[in-house]
Amino acid sequence: MSSNAITPGDAQPENHYDLSPVEANQLYQGEVLVDVPILNMPKPESCWSLLRTRTGRRIHEALKEGGIGGLVQVLDSNKSKEQWYADGLGDYVMAILDKRPALVLSQTCDISQASKTRILVAPIREHARAGAALDLLKAGKIGAAFWLEPHPPQLQNDSYADLEQIQTVHKSYIKRITDDRHFRLKAARTRALQRHLTKYFGRPNSYDSREDKAPVKGTYMCTSCFYFDGHVSRQDCDEQGTLFTCGRCQGTSWILKGR
Ligand SMILES: [Zn+2]
Repeated sequence: MSSNAITPGDAQPENHYDLSPVEANQLYQGEVLVDVPILNMPKPESCWSLLRTRTGRRIHEALKEGGIGGLVQVLDSNKSKEQWYADGLGDYVMAILDKRPALVLSQTCDISQASKTRILVAPIREHARAGAALDLLKAGKIGAAFWLEPHPPQLQNDSYADLEQIQTVHKSYIKRITDDRHFRLKAARTRALQRHLTKYFGRPNSYDSREDKAPVKGTYMCTSCFYFDGHVSRQDCDEQGTLFTCGRCQGTSWILKGR
């Protein structure tokens, strides 16, 4: 029985999460990975700190000869132009690698492709504030943050996927993923995630009469009538005017004529 987490009479949580068991070693968009390495390179006070060997060589050059041993020195990247090699191979810097929960953003079909070596994730952070700020988060009104309800013990409190800190993780870190190391959003929440990402990163290509006002004065056309019937249903709206549900098909998605 996979749904014994909720018994009759229990308060029903909003329940973002799929209660059916996740498959080991299978990963989908909209899954929370419990501990993946997330890199943070906080801007230091005045400079980036370069890591070099005692003789000033870069770490990867020293590693080629088998281990660096000894000590490394930390150099101020601003100190002189000579600190930077001009060969385009880059340099090692001080950064913090931390294992934490992250939300998988890569499309499921891309994750399963062997040729793709990295997956896109957003680190998950706890949302410290309650009240109006939390209400905004829950309503999806904070572009850079996607709300995740608590999922103890991994997420003790309301949390969010931080879309400003999206990064990729090499698949080798999560090669063998046991079923206690991930859990999954419900399909409806994964679709909400897709809408959220589109809205945040994309130019809106349609407006939803359930949650949007008309952004500018103009003629709006129902997408369902057009796509399913080749019919044009339209309504004229002023800026910030209400977009009504389509009287012909009850559709709620509208595109602006001429855009
Ligand atoms: Zn319609």
